[in-house]
Amino acid sequence: MLIGIDLGTTNSLVACFRNGKAEIIPNRLGEALTPSVVSVDSKGTVYVGRSAKERAMLYPLESASVFKRSMGTDREYDLGGRKLRAEELSSLVLRSLKEDAQVYLGEPVTDAIISVPAYFNDLQRKATKRAGELAGLNVVRIVNEPTAAAIAYGMAERNDSRYLVFDLGGGTFDVSILELYKPIMEVHAIAGDNFIGGEDFTDVLYDLFLESAGIAPETLDLKTRSILRKNAESCKCAFSHSNEIMLCCPVQGKLHALRLTLEEYERACAPLLERLRKPIERSLKDAGVSLQQIDQVVLVGGATRSPVVRKFVAKLFGRIPSFGVNPDEAVAIGAALQCGMKVRDKEIQEVVLTDVCPFTLGTEVMVDNGAFEEPGHYLPIIERNTVIPVSRTETVYTAHENQTRITVKILQGESRMSQNNLLLGELSVPVPPGPKGKEAVDITYTYDVNSLLEVEVYVHSSKLRRKILIQGNKSPLSQEEAQKRMEALQHLKQNPREEEPNRLVLLRGERMYEEATGEKRRVIDRAMMEFDRALKKQDRSEIQRARETLTKFLDEMQYGS
Ligand code: AMP
Repeated sequence: MLIGIDLGTTNSLVACFRNGKAEIIPNRLGEALTPSVVSVDSKGTVYVGRSAKERAMLYPLESASVFKRSMGTDREYDLGGRKLRAEELSSLVLRSLKEDAQVYLGEPVTDAIISVPAYFNDLQRKATKRAGELAGLNVVRIVNEPTAAAIAYGMAERNDSRYLVFDLGGGTFDVSILELYKPIMEVHAIAGDNFIGGEDFTDVLYDLFLESAGIAPETLDLKTRSILRKNAESCKCAFSHSNEIMLCCPVQGKLHALRLTLEEYERACAPLLERLRKPIERSLKDAGVSLQQIDQVVLVGGATRSPVVRKFVAKLFGRIPSFGVNPDEAVAIGAALQCGMKVRDKEIQEVVLTDVCPFTLGTEVMVDNGAFEEPGHYLPIIERNTVIPVSRTETVYTAHENQTRITVKILQGESRMSQNNLLLGELSVPVPPGPKGKEAVDITYTYDVNSLLEVEVYVHSSKLRRKILIQGNKSPLSQEEAQKRMEALQHLKQNPREEEPNRLVLLRGERMYEEATGEKRRVIDRAMMEFDRALKKQDRSEIQRARETLTKFLDEMQYGS
């Protein structure tokens, strides 16, 4: 069975295509969203999702979140002494989603389509694919998130139109411009910023709080930091239905509070909003259309629920954006629709989708500046927003007398000078020595529908051909090390599915106990003991009743209703 996965910075979702339609698969708690958070306890039990999010507040040193931002890098997260890379942490999230899907569908899940931000570079895409493989999934396709979201909207749309998808998730921002003239759906341009998202809008409140309380950020301990972040996030979301918030957090035994109006918050967010403007302008320019030629603006990603973001979009485009599909679910639904296309389900097989490569891929060359050959220049081979799959060749020549090798730098980016672009890899071939400029080498870049890059170098005179598929991390692990880590991952056991609801409520109670003081603590303690007693009796229906009672009690305590 093939599933579609939205592996998000903050939340992940899994969906499938069944009975002629896309369907969100609920997780073990019956919820659509699984927080992309991982926590590992001292016994090596892995927690994923909401229970991990609760654990992260109690045991920040054993937990990791927002790791999608480090995909494709060598950064290691330390979870209680266990060192894990972003792709390994992601594989644990994927493993949990896969299990949920298997239980829901009642059959083994083997293959997956996983979405990534359009602006993910080649290293990040490969790392995502590897995360899938580590979770025991054959990743048959990597899709761009905005394209997936656009499919979800496009399929629901009756009329042909040109639309812009504004996708602001937890950690990334993607803009894409698409045109739908049924049955063809064409992506015209993609632009984005990998380093802006809902989390930055949380940071605004976090920073304002510390500033108003006169607390230096570096003096906060890890636990206080996570509590403040969580409270800041709740307040940020509260702006969706309230014009004023009160952000409270105990710091070193003293309760501090910040009262803030929506207007003040909006003003503080101005620099972030300004950063959102750039990719929009670029995508319009690349697609060769003006703001006025966009028929619809579609909002995707949790952070577009913010009134500040909505107002910004409405003002920029001079119209109310569409919210037709749930912004949290659009990407997963789109990934599931792609599953339908992949298996040629008769309900949607007539749809033809064309996607583009979101960034320029090129190599480094020397350029004659009139006086001498200047090194370090960028030679674009596949220009950004070229329709994929695509294969392009450029021929380069030896630059020195009796040169014996040509080294091809594989670069991604838009800068004129190659050092400012991202080095994805290198490929070196021997050439017969001779006069400068005599030896010619063809460099062929092939970018497939999964946006994975293959490079081939061909030396004319010797007919030597060499190929590489860009491998992901800049300093990949040795075969041996990779094997060792993989085994270590397999040894980590998941918190059993059926225990998840109980575990979650216990962790939540523990966390609220830690945050509370005085009488509140005593009441929480009593309520927890009640639940402990029910657990010991091992009677399922009694446990369920007690869990519901405790959840209600904690809800009332936390939200006052
Ligand atoms: P996603 O990665 O699409 O799940 O988006 C998650 C981001 O959306 C997180 O940063 C959330 O804090 C943010 N978010 C969710 N709901 C709201 C809301 N009502 N207002 C502002 N931000 C929100």
